Amino acid sequence: MAHLIVITGPSGVGKGTLITLLRERIASVRLSISATTREPRQGERDGVDYHFLADDAFDVLIAEGAFAEHARYAGKQYGTLLTELDERDGAEDVIVLEIELQGARQIRQSMPSALQVFIAPPSFDSLRERLVRRGTDSAQTIDERLAVAREELGAQDEFSEVIVNDNLDNAVEALERLVQGQLRGAID
Ligand code: 5GP
Repeated sequence: MAHLIVITGPSGVGKGTLITLLRERIASVRLSISATTREPRQGERDGVDYHFLADDAFDVLIAEGAFAEHARYAGKQYGTLLTELDERDGAEDVIVLEIELQGARQIRQSMPSALQVFIAPPSFDSLRERLVRRGTDSAQTIDERLAVAREELGAQDEFSEVIVNDNLDNAVEALERLVQGQLRGAID
């Protein structure tokens, strides 16, 4: 079975960039493509960035038990399809789930061997700056995301590993070390 790594952290903390850099460093890292009911952002592609679904289609999948975890976030649904986890199962493969707090908690219960990593910002204000600079969300959405972020930051102690993303090079280095450690653990 592949290694599962859950990466959680508030919106705007830089999880996406860190995971992209991690994948450049470790070829066997694959990102699970989540399902969501939110609208695609400019440049996002269905089946690549997310499986974009209508609300009723998402509900059918919940009823069918198709999700490893699912949660509501800022009024939209997000979930990890079990098929994303089945696809590959080599002991040297790593599947990254980039998911929010409630989903991370569900995976902690159902798949306790998954490594749980929380990416924290250097400060709360730096999150707001990043979300505004990114320019992908409306002012109202940014406020909603910051409200959720406060709650998420309060839960970081639940995670076995916390990486503060104050410097991208250091943060990706730390993430790579954790993943290599998991892989070595499987081989030793
Ligand atoms: P965004 O809309 O910015 O792409 O994602 C919003 C939040 O949903 C982020 O915190 C992201 O990590 C989380 N998210 C993305 N996919 C999933 C998923 O499959 N399950 C859960 N629980 N959260 C997800």
